[in-house]
Amino acid sequence: MTFRHSVVALALSAASIAAPSYAKEAVDLLINDATILTMNADKSVYQHGSLAIKGNKIVAVGDRSLAERYQAAQSLDVDGDIVMPGLINTHTHVSMTVFRSLADDVPDRLHRYIFPLEAKLVSRDMVRIGANLGNVEMVKGGVTTYADMYYFEDEVAKTVDKIGMRAVLGESVIQFPVADAKNADEGIAYAEKFIQQYRHHPRITPAFAPHAPYTNTTETLQKVAKLSEQYNVPVLTHLAESHREQEKIAERSGGKSPVQYMHDIGALNKHLVGAHMILVDDKDIELVKQSDMGVAHNMSANIKSAKGVSPALKMYDQGVRIGLGTDGPMSGNGLSIIDEFNQVAKVHKLVNHDRAAMPPVKVIDMATMGAARALHMEDKIGSLEVGKLADVIVIDTKAPNMVPMYNPYSALVYSANAGNVRHTIVDGKILMQDRQMLTVDEDAIRDEAIQFTDVVRKTVIDSGEEVL
Ligand SMILES: [Zn+2]
Repeated sequence: MTFRHSVVALALSAASIAAPSYAKEAVDLLINDATILTMNADKSVYQHGSLAIKGNKIVAVGDRSLAERYQAAQSLDVDGDIVMPGLINTHTHVSMTVFRSLADDVPDRLHRYIFPLEAKLVSRDMVRIGANLGNVEMVKGGVTTYADMYYFEDEVAKTVDKIGMRAVLGESVIQFPVADAKNADEGIAYAEKFIQQYRHHPRITPAFAPHAPYTNTTETLQKVAKLSEQYNVPVLTHLAESHREQEKIAERSGGKSPVQYMHDIGALNKHLVGAHMILVDDKDIELVKQSDMGVAHNMSANIKSAKGVSPALKMYDQGVRIGLGTDGPMSGNGLSIIDEFNQVAKVHKLVNHDRAAMPPVKVIDMATMGAARALHMEDKIGSLEVGKLADVIVIDTKAPNMVPMYNPYSALVYSANAGNVRHTIVDGKILMQDRQMLTVDEDAIRDEAIQFTDVVRKTVIDSGEEVL
């Protein structure tokens, strides 16, 4: 170490003697000695590379020679660790962390268990407490941006603003009475107010979130589609997820698939992000591609609910905008995208009966650039390139499960877990350093969530349902 430092010092002094007028460019943060996975179009990888951040942007990324061109206010020497774009969770309901591990294997769970539970328990407090906890879990798992669908999204927005993450937050629209709206029209009105409040926030993109086609009327879905065009905001929804949805939409539309139906009513467009997309055929995939909509692929939630495996690999290969998601923490049950990698790679191999299907580089692409494309944010995030926003994570490669590392993509997909994330940077700001949260009080957030479990437990017991 001493020897290496002295060599660097010698080299620097030699350079300053040779070129005394040479001035180093000032940057805010410089990451050195990294295994950089840029996830750019060429999938460039730099060994012992450097990455420079100024303000909230990446100003340089490349080999070790870069380090000598910059004078940094702060440096992180990561000793060969993986530096990669922040992960993007394209579909969740973050506040549902407070319900995690409840009734995991109850049949017809959404309609028989979750909706009634939410009718009793969703409140501003519950949304805030759950979002705070989920945000910490995501930052500690390397997620820098997420797309959320829930109620009281203005409360979620406050937690995102505080912790410093990036998010697309969709206010729910659903046809039956919920905690923050008596009907779909009230849900739309709530969403419009929220959109007007947050549309110029630098890290938060407000959105509409009609729950699903079958839990809303055609008129509501069309109204949301029109308003999303007017406000130029995303529409997050569950689409082609279940047989129940398929049957209800077929009844309503004279036998159409959910995707065909959404297309025919004018709701399948570039603003839409459809979560799940399990029950889609080749004709549906063609419509999805033509519409330029995004897709959120939630493998662990889908296999746990036994609903099926989305043809996500086929969609990816055909150029559909598709990224990975976890679904809510009552479904997946985690919020970490790293913990999706393994299942995404292996289940697609299994269903295709092909060991070579879904190689690690595709999984990582879906978790970064693919997800950025799904949210139509690929010009800002998803890869480590000059001019992009500085959403960057560092993965510990010295943890026992990461040694040795012949292929960083394989190590990430088949060996890594959320606990291997060492530093998380969003918008140029370090939110977690050496696993310590810097912008929020992790202990206080966890304690508040634990206290809330008493409320949940009592409500569930009073309703006569099983707690576990
Ligand atoms: Zn969901």
